Formats: sequence, C-alpha cells, structure tokens
Amino acid sequence: MYDVKSPRAEEFIDHQEVLDSLAYADANKNNAALLDRILEKARLRQGLTHREASVLLACEDEARNQEVYRLAEQIKKDFYGNRIVIFAPLYLSNYCVNGCVYCPYHISNRHITRKKLTQEDIRREVIALQDMGHKRLAIESGEDPRMNPLEYILESIKTIYSIKHKNGAIRRVNVNIAATTVENYRRLKDAGIGTYILFQETYHKESYEKLHPTGPKHDYAYHTEAMDRAMQGGIDDVGLGVLFGLEFYRYDFAALLMHAEHLEAVFGVGPHTISVPRIKPADDIDVNAFDNGVSDDLFAKVVACIRVAVPYTGMIISTRESQQVRERVLKLGISQVSGASRTSVGGYAEAEPEGENSEQFDLSDRRSLDEVVRWLMQLGYIPSFCTACYREGRTGDRFMSLCKSGQIQNCCHPNSLMTLKEYLMDYASPETRVIGEELIRREIQNVSSERVRAIAEKNLQEIEKGSRDFRF
Ligand code: SAM
Repeated sequence: MYDVKSPRAEEFIDHQEVLDSLAYADANKNNAALLDRILEKARLRQGLTHREASVLLACEDEARNQEVYRLAEQIKKDFYGNRIVIFAPLYLSNYCVNGCVYCPYHISNRHITRKKLTQEDIRREVIALQDMGHKRLAIESGEDPRMNPLEYILESIKTIYSIKHKNGAIRRVNVNIAATTVENYRRLKDAGIGTYILFQETYHKESYEKLHPTGPKHDYAYHTEAMDRAMQGGIDDVGLGVLFGLEFYRYDFAALLMHAEHLEAVFGVGPHTISVPRIKPADDIDVNAFDNGVSDDLFAKVVACIRVAVPYTGMIISTRESQQVRERVLKLGISQVSGASRTSVGGYAEAEPEGENSEQFDLSDRRSLDEVVRWLMQLGYIPSFCTACYREGRTGDRFMSLCKSGQIQNCCHPNSLMTLKEYLMDYASPETRVIGEELIRREIQNVSSERVRAIAEKNLQEIEKGSRDFRF
C-alpha cells in the first residue's frame, strides 16, 4: 500500500511544461546533434523524458525516424521477446450519466439500447468467452452510481472468477471503470483485480472540460488524479491511455509521458500498461466532427516513440484497429492485443436482436480468436494467455524490477508456451493446432534456463494428458 501524498493534477500535468516541450520539440526537430544524443540515450534502453521523446516524435529527418522504428523493434524484442498477450473486453453495462461528446453511451443518447448484465447474463457471457479460449478479461462499464454501483462491479468480478466451465477459467480480470475513491480502489484490489485501467481521453484541461461537459467525469482533477488514488488504495498495476483524435496528438503524447514520470517519481513504479485507442465511429458519433485525427503513419510513430520512451511498460492495441494497422504496430512495441471482441452489452453469448444497438463503437477487426491466434503465429509471435504475474504476486515494483533485470523472461516465455498449449488442446481448430504445436517445439528450445526448460517440457506433457494451469 502506498501511503504517499501526491501533488495535484495541474502540477504533474503542468500545461505550460507541455507547451514548452512542444515548442522545444518544434525548435529541435531538425537538430541533428540533439537528435543523435537522444537516440544514443534511447539505445541504453532505460527510457527517455517527455521532452526527449517529444523531439523524436517531431523529428522530420527520414533516416533518424527509421532509426526510431528500428530501436522500437529492438526494445520490443529485448523486453517482450515475441510474446503477445491476448485478452477480451467484457461490457457489463452501458448506463451512463456522463455527457462525453465522443461516446455513444452519453446520457442524452436516447436511441442507443441501454443494457445491464445480470449475474446470470454474466455467467453466459463468461462461458462464451471461456469457450473461445479467453483467460483474461477487461471489464468495462459506463459511469452510473445508481445503475452500476461499485457493489455491482464487485459482485460481477466474483461471478466471473467463480465460473469454471469445462477446462475454462478467467484467471485475470482487469477493470476499466470510472475514476473512484481510494476506499473503492481498495475494495477492487481486495476483489483480486489485475490492472486498473482508466483512459485520460485528453490531458488538455480546457479541451477535457469541453469534451466532458456534464456528469462526474467533467472534473478534470478528479479524473487525472485517479491513478494516484488507485495506488493509494493498493492497486499497483495501473493502465494509462489517451483517446487519440480528441486533441493535438503531440500534446497528449507529452502529457501521457509526464503522467508516467509522475507515477514513477511518487510511487516508485510507472504504469503497467499504456493503451493507444483512436476514436471510432459509433451510434451517434461522427468522427469527422473531431479535427485532430491521427493518420496511420503518425499513429505508428506514436507507438514507436512510446516504446522507446517507456521500455518497461506494456502496450495495448484493441480491435478498434484493423488487422493491417495492428500488424504494423505489433512490430513497433505492442505487447497485448484484444481478440474477437464485442463492444455491445451481452454480445458474446448471442448476437444483438434486430433493432437493438448497445455497442460502444464500431470494430475494425472482427476475426475469431482462432483466426487471431493463427495470424499471430504466422507472423512469428507466441500468442500468450498467461496471467501468472499478479497471481504470483509479481505486481508493481516487484514486476518492474524483474522486468528491468531481464529475469522476467524466465517466467513469461515458458508461461506463454504452456498457456498456448492449453489453448491448442482445448479450443484451437486443427489447422491452428498444427501451427501451434510446431511453434512450441521450436520455442521451447529457446527457454534460456536449462532448469526452467526441463520443468516446462514436463508441464507441456502434463497438459497434453489433461492437467491445466501450470505457471512459473
Ligand atoms: N466509463 C469509463 C470511464 O469513464 O472512463 C470507461 C469505460 S469506456 C467503456 C472505455 C473507453 O472507451 C473510454 O475511456 C474511451 O476512451 C473509449 N471510447 C469511448 N468512445 C469511443 C469511440 N467513439 N471510439 C473509440 N473509443 C471510444
């Protein structure tokens, strides 16, 4: 538990410092000597400051930009190997009292179908997710203290963890719900959640207030300080993100890194993950109404610069993005992807009836989990269903120090192979299974510790015979 007093939002996201960083980046975007010094520092793989990373993001020199991409790829390989962790979002309720102008759940949307899952509905959803092979979920909910109080979220988490269908189990529940109190974060921690995720949407206070004109989310400081309260409540794995397209991307990029620096400075541990959602068309949302759209090329550069700036932080890409875009950014730093997602409430167990629409946004990647797993393997990645770290108490600074020393590889690599093996045995199509078995045969030879390799090989045989849930 972190008993630390945090500075206020406007201190750690100092608007003037963001503007000065952008001006500095503009002034130096062609400064060859400075760019080379920053690249030299990046090669040490210990990260960059928000200012340094902002210069790289603004850089106009083609050869040096290529070097940023090359470095991002290398850092990704060094810290995450070729593993990609897979998860799915589970929408519990789209009742919401906020007025977010980019989100169709906003309170004045009268034609979206409002739904809230009962515990029985959740059971059906979780069984459908388990039957695909998912082990890790991120629960999502609109903010409505009356319809979706914390008690409802806690009860839902309990239900999710309790369901064991065939060989299925949800072993890690991450939570993406509205900013709340230290006490509520403590209760979420006690419920056994993995990461607490909350997107800032934008760090630009004036824009933030316009984009969130009504409801509790309007309070910029309360929202921006949420991660401090989460940490004070004992949650040491927190996930940051901005919704690209709302504000000037370079502003939010610099501020996002300032937020990470702040958490590291105050709590001794930076964010566990960073998500990079881009705004998508949705029920009554026209993306053309937002004039800060980020092109695919800029998006790739943002991902690469985040990877270089915070090497130890996982990066998440959702099915908001197409297969093509996902493929591009996987190389540049992404370590987690969602697969076979539904953003409607209750969309896994059955398709929405004609005339109903509870979706949060349109999806670009609608492939099945089997297709996503096969695609990853064909690209040379190991799809991982691993959830071991937080179950073994490797969270917060414990996780970070293992990550920084490189020791985490001895857990993650064999765990990815064992969880992939479980997936192949229980859920994969014959075609995916053939590719996966061959990958495991090859990859097990690359487990660096002989002792760990021997145990993992034995565990793989046990999985073949029907045992489950081995982990390092
Ligand atoms: N209600 C919670 C809150 O207030 O932060 C979070 C849950 S919400 C279901 C998850 C995220 O979806 C939001 O934080 C937002 O960034 C994203 N989102 C909302 N509308 C979107 C859109 N039109 N396109 C893409 N992402 C969107």
